[in-house]
Amino acid sequence: MSRTEPRIIRAVWELQQWSERMRCAGKRIALVPTMGSLHLGHLSLLRMAQHHADRTIVSIFVNPTQFGPNEDFDSYPRDLEADLEQVRKVGADVAFPPAPDRRCPAGAATWVTGDPLTQGLCGRSRPGHFRGVATVVARLFQAARPHVAIFGEKDYQQLAVIRRMARDLLFDTEIVGAPTVREPDGLAMSSRNRYLSDDARLQARALNIALHEARQHVRAGERDVRFIAEATRRRIAKEPLAELDYVEICDPETLAPLDRIGRRAILAVAASFEGARLIDNTLLEADG
Ligand code: AMP
Repeated sequence: MSRTEPRIIRAVWELQQWSERMRCAGKRIALVPTMGSLHLGHLSLLRMAQHHADRTIVSIFVNPTQFGPNEDFDSYPRDLEADLEQVRKVGADVAFPPAPDRRCPAGAATWVTGDPLTQGLCGRSRPGHFRGVATVVARLFQAARPHVAIFGEKDYQQLAVIRRMARDLLFDTEIVGAPTVREPDGLAMSSRNRYLSDDARLQARALNIALHEARQHVRAGERDVRFIAEATRRRIAKEPLAELDYVEICDPETLAPLDRIGRRAILAVAASFEGARLIDNTLLEADG
C-alpha cells in the first residue's frame, strides 16, 4: 500500500492528462471527493480507494453550489496544509484542490438534478443541495476519469443520488459506499462536529443512540414505520439543544417513504445542535 507524498494538481487539464497517462499504463484510478477538513472518516475512504485501485486521487473542494444562502459556506473550515497532513497518513497519489475554473468563471449553466431522489430527506430542507453535489461530482468525474469513486454511507442520500447519476448518465465509474466511521461514543464523524460546544457534543450522541434503539425495535419484531419513527423522534427531542429536522424511513434504493419495514429499510435522521446540522442513518433489516 503506497504512502506516497501526494502530487498537488490544481488545473483540470493537468488532472485529465495525468489520468490519461495512468489509464494508458493500465492503472486503475480511484477518486475520493471531499470538502476537506479531513478526519478519520475521510481517511477510511482513502484506504478503501487504495484497496480498489492502483492510483488514488483525493479532491478537496468546498463546493459553493451545494450550500444554501443561509448555510455555513463562509465559515466551513478550510485548511489545505492540515488536510495534506492528514492525506500523508494514508497516502494518495494526487491531491486535487482545484483552482477556480477559467473556462466557466460565472459557474455552470448545466445542472444534474437527480429528481426524484432529491425530493425528501435532506433535499426537503436544503433545496438545491443535491443539484450542487451531483453537478460538481459529474465535473470531478470528467476531470479525474476514475474507474471507481468512494462515497461515505453517512451521507446516504448523496450516495444514492450519485449511484443513480452514474447509472443514468452512463459514467464509466463504479460507485462504492463506505461504512460510517464513528467517534468512540458513537457520534458519526463529521467536519461539522467541530462547531459543537461541549454540551451540544454530549447531546449529539442522541442521534446514534436513537438509531440503535430503532434497530432494537426491529430486532424485537416491530415493523410499523410510524411507531419506530416516532420513538426515534422522541429520543432525539429529549435533548434540550436538539432541533429536529427529520426522521424518515425509506427504501434503500429509491428513498421512497415506507409504511412498513419490509426486508430492508433506511432510517435517516437530521438535527441541528446550536446551529450545527448533523445527519446520520442506519440500515434496518427485518431478517437479521
Ligand atoms: P465531505 O467532506 O463532508 O463532503 O465528505 C466527503 C466524503 O466523506 C463523503 O463521501 C462523505 O460521505 C464521507 N464521510 C464523511 N464523514 C464520514 C464518516 N464519518 N465516515 C465515513 N465517510 C464519511
